[in-house]
Amino acid sequence: MTKAIVIGSGPNGLAAAVTLARNGVEVTVLEAADEVGGGTRSAELTVPGLLHDECSGFHPLAVDNAFTRSVDLADHGLRWSRPDVQYAHPLDGGGGAAVWQDVSTTARHLFDDGARWAQVFGTLATHFPDIADDFLRPMLRVPQHVLKLGMFGAFAGPPASWVARLWRTEEARALFAGAAAHSFRPLDSLLSSAIGVALGTAAHTYGWPVAEGGSRSIARAMCASLESSGGTVETGIRVDALADLPASDIVMLDTSPAAAVRIVGDALPGRVARGLSRFRHGPGAFVVNFAVEGGIPWTYEPARRAGTLHLGGRFDEIAAAEAAINRGHMPEKPFVLLGQQYLADSQRSRGGVHPVDAYAHVPAGYDGDATRAIEDQIERFAPGFRDRVIARNVRTTTEVAAGNANFVGGDIVSGANSAMQLVFRPRPALDPYSLGVPGLFLCSAATPPGAGAHGMAGYNAAMSALAQCGGDRRA
Ligand SMILES: Cc1cc2nc3c(=O)[nH]c(=O)nc-3n(C[C@H](O)[C@H](O)[C@H](O)COP(=O)(O)OP(=O)(O)OC[C@H]3O[C@@H](n4cnc5c(N)ncnc54)[C@H](O)[C@@H]3O)c2cc1C
Repeated sequence: MTKAIVIGSGPNGLAAAVTLARNGVEVTVLEAADEVGGGTRSAELTVPGLLHDECSGFHPLAVDNAFTRSVDLADHGLRWSRPDVQYAHPLDGGGGAAVWQDVSTTARHLFDDGARWAQVFGTLATHFPDIADDFLRPMLRVPQHVLKLGMFGAFAGPPASWVARLWRTEEARALFAGAAAHSFRPLDSLLSSAIGVALGTAAHTYGWPVAEGGSRSIARAMCASLESSGGTVETGIRVDALADLPASDIVMLDTSPAAAVRIVGDALPGRVARGLSRFRHGPGAFVVNFAVEGGIPWTYEPARRAGTLHLGGRFDEIAAAEAAINRGHMPEKPFVLLGQQYLADSQRSRGGVHPVDAYAHVPAGYDGDATRAIEDQIERFAPGFRDRVIARNVRTTTEVAAGNANFVGGDIVSGANSAMQLVFRPRPALDPYSLGVPGLFLCSAATPPGAGAHGMAGYNAAMSALAQCGGDRRA
């Protein structure tokens, strides 16, 4: 029987493990932390009984992709739940903009820009399942849906600052900036609209759902699926060198490229080691989880019903903040993302106290304290917020990286989303998962299609391994 070891139990490590196990491979997953799940862990971080997502909170690209279609995670307890408003963007003065899953509702709230929003995102959303099938794979492939991918590329390719000109109102431009800034890129750089267009379209196709019972339910469902195919997971085991592992036919590394170079050592061909060493990480995240009595008193009413909040004000303010962190400067008013998962999953709250998960975009390895800057951004759009906070849990970029070695310098998207690395990650290669040694693969979010708890990098890497090493391919 073919044997595989997977190093790391993030969503990609687990997706690779599940895919291999379902194809007749004997799989063991080794995880450094005491808990499985990597970026999909959840815990009571503030007060007892209040469940926070430590990292990933919203999963638009996990609902329906090649991996999640190949394995029914619902059979293993995974349930998606959506807030009424998918994401909201409050502005100074009490106004703002928001996205509902329904394009027409969104358009109605965007007034003069509604028709254009519906034209762009409504059209893309109609074709999104096919478009996503193509972009959730390595780029150096012949696309299956060339015309649809071309249509997506027309909006995804240019800088976000160009695409924003499609809209006339400050509200619609800011709404787009919030989605685009998920890339952690300067908004005037090439392909800086790609992630915003993908996430924005996904909001109208699948919503931005949360996993009932916390994001840890995703990892738990994957582990249950793996175990049903005979695989096992061992926690508390950090792998430092390939030589320490028992013999196996396949080794999958759900690690950063630099860690892969260290772990594989001299066995790695020089050209691959050089390619991986050129991989660049992006800016960092400074994370604060809050316990909030009575929820956040947003002035902009749809924000009170929104799962995700983008806090940073107008397009030009967010663009300036993102440009600053990419230059290594901490802005006074950083871009902040905030999750109110409890609105879609009430079991995470206790009585009237609710868990809120927020993070600011900060420079790579930022060693200052961004707590006040995050709270100022929330208070700016929700006066009285601070008075309702009963507990907070703070993680600096160093602590984020200490909790998960893949988040180098606090880089939670596993590598800068530069145009080069969006197309060729982790290095230019026909098979970006292969480490150039038979049986050895990288499967983390540093490989295509990049960050997100959707499992597609792990699935693609496993398919590459099965093509190379065999198995009775059922996925
Ligand atoms: C604050 C925050 C918010 C986020 N929000 C979202 C969101 O809303 N939606 C979304 O889709 N994504 C989000 N993400 C990103 C998402 O969590 C990651 O893109 C995703 O988890 C990457 O999955 P992965 O399997 O590649 O790696 P990871 O999830 O990072 O898992 C890697 C695992 O490998 C283990 N490991 C590493 N090295 C070793 C070793 N040498 N030996 C043994 N084990 C090892 C680590 O401990 C870890 O458990 C967020 C991340 C953070 C931090």
